[in-house]
Amino acid sequence: MTPESAALVVGATVLTVTVTLVILRIRRSRVALAHGPSRTDFPDVLPQAMNEEVFLSKLSDAVLIAGRDGVIAIASRGAERVLGWSPEQLRTRRVASLIHEDVVAEATLALERVADGAELHLPQRWRVRRADGSWLEAECTATRLADAPADRCVVIALREAPPRDVTAVGVETLRDPLTGLASRALFRDRAEHALARAHRLQLPLAVLYLEFDDFRAGGVRATIHELERVILAASNRLTTVLRSSDSAGRVEGARFAILLEDMTDESNFVQVADRIGQAFAAPLHAEGKEFLGNANLGIASAMPEDSVDDVLRHADVALRAARRRGRGACELFDPRVHEPALAHSRLEEDLRKAIESGDFSLVYQPIVILRSRRIAGVEALVRWNHRGRGLIPAAAFIPVAEETGLIVPLGRWILREACRQAKTWQDTIGPDRSLTVTVNITPRQLLHPRFVDDVASALRDSAIEPHRLVLEISEGGLARSMTDALNRLRQVRALGVRIAIDDYGSRSASLGDPADIPVDILKIDRSYISQVTRRPEEHAATRAIVALGKLKRLRTVAEGIEREEQLAELLRFKCEYGQGTLFSEPVTADGFLELLRRD
Ligand code: C2E
Ligand code: MG
Ligand code: MG
Repeated sequence: MTPESAALVVGATVLTVTVTLVILRIRRSRVALAHGPSRTDFPDVLPQAMNEEVFLSKLSDAVLIAGRDGVIAIASRGAERVLGWSPEQLRTRRVASLIHEDVVAEATLALERVADGAELHLPQRWRVRRADGSWLEAECTATRLADAPADRCVVIALREAPPRDVTAVGVETLRDPLTGLASRALFRDRAEHALARAHRLQLPLAVLYLEFDDFRAGGVRATIHELERVILAASNRLTTVLRSSDSAGRVEGARFAILLEDMTDESNFVQVADRIGQAFAAPLHAEGKEFLGNANLGIASAMPEDSVDDVLRHADVALRAARRRGRGACELFDPRVHEPALAHSRLEEDLRKAIESGDFSLVYQPIVILRSRRIAGVEALVRWNHRGRGLIPAAAFIPVAEETGLIVPLGRWILREACRQAKTWQDTIGPDRSLTVTVNITPRQLLHPRFVDDVASALRDSAIEPHRLVLEISEGGLARSMTDALNRLRQVRALGVRIAIDDYGSRSASLGDPADIPVDILKIDRSYISQVTRRPEEHAATRAIVALGKLKRLRTVAEGIEREEQLAELLRFKCEYGQGTLFSEPVTADGFLELLRRD
């Protein structure tokens, strides 16, 4: 058997053959023809073109060979199975005529680049028209056929793309179901290996994040449905501009990550950034519209001591800095410039992990009736039991939790835990004494769509009476999104829960008349109490807030009472309730039960 026919037989028996294999075999047959025995020695050898055709016709994979002009020269039998078109029907058609208009521009560009010698390493996702008019969601790879004439120089392999909703464990979780690129997990894994190698061989390595912050067609923002298609188009375009050494992933939403393995200095980064920036200067096609988006870039190169998480965090910090500059900026990570952002990002990551592992506890500060100093209730205050840094007070991390949205799961836990604890105390002290529990709520929690349900379920599951729960929201927080916040407060109040305004009077532009807001309690900000015996302004303001509370039939609670003379002044104003270190520091749940027993 000749080497050519042996290759054909082998080829015909293989069911799934990758394009690389196809090319290898074709190349081998070419080598044999060029340098091997002459045709007269092997009279059964087919002409070169026929050879490829026969070879391809046996393939069960869908393979097309096209010219530089995009006209199909050869189609495999597998193409008929996948697309429904016979090889004869496909021959002389343009590849572009089979591709959905959303992706045709990207696909044509990609094929031209391949014909010019670039390689398309990562699969693109194209919607390809079947003979019956339906669309095949296909994953496509293309390679240039070495030494081939211009009319048959591009080999395209198509296969049905894995379904998008694949979440099953296995190989597919390593791929982003929408674009077919590496998932976040796989990208991290690749970056880790590449970094180990780079450290070992002292090679440069960088991570680039590319994120689109706004896609618009004719000034109108993309809908969620359109967005998916635009992200797919962006992914296709990105893969056409990457080099063979780059590895890419879609790590979240409209964010892609690219591993740059042979970047030596900043000028290389600028080149890559320029190339990517230019690629996205032209609109992306989706759903028959043209979308333009801001492509922000953040790049971080690995330092010798960096872990993979360090490099990814640095790239993230650089990307955020680029995003802040806006309008498609590129930023290189610089430890001197980005240190504060880095510290913030570390805190955020620690916080995320702490929430996953539940490294939080609550402490409780009594709220007392000022005249008798007896306990009327308690405010729950969260503490982070940080593994390296010990107990962290709320003020150091609540703002970060709020900014990142992590407050939603954390706040849900705080609410449930405080209610559960309140029920335990109430059961211990019996029904004759009433105790309220106060829980702090941030604006983001309040505005979360599930907030009212969360409160209702915390009440139900703990079996505490609704009027024993007080939700505290700071005055500044309320002012931010007034109408929505007030509606939400009305909804929770309808459950029987009471509302307190925390840090009342602390904002320079105050809320104004508390009668306009659904509220039961005013908590006078500590800044007034600390000066109430010292400065006439705070003295007058505190007296005015207590009077306003009385007028509006609201309870007033003075915060941060530390000294006897402050208490005496508040009693003169007829302020009824208060809390502060004069009565008790925040204590543990057991500590609070002890205080209750002695009370
Ligand atoms: P806040 O709600 O006004 O809580 C009062 C803060 O003052 C607490 O600090 C408390 O420990 C402290 N404090 C109590 N008595 C005195 C005193 O006599 N003198 C002084 N100087 N301070 C006193 P903490 O626990 O660090 O909380 C700070 C802020 O963080 C809270 O202010 C609240 O806005 C927020 N926060 C605390 N816990 C939570 C929580 O569970 N959820 C939410 N969303 N926010 C919380
Ligand atoms: Mg509070
Ligand atoms: Mg307060």
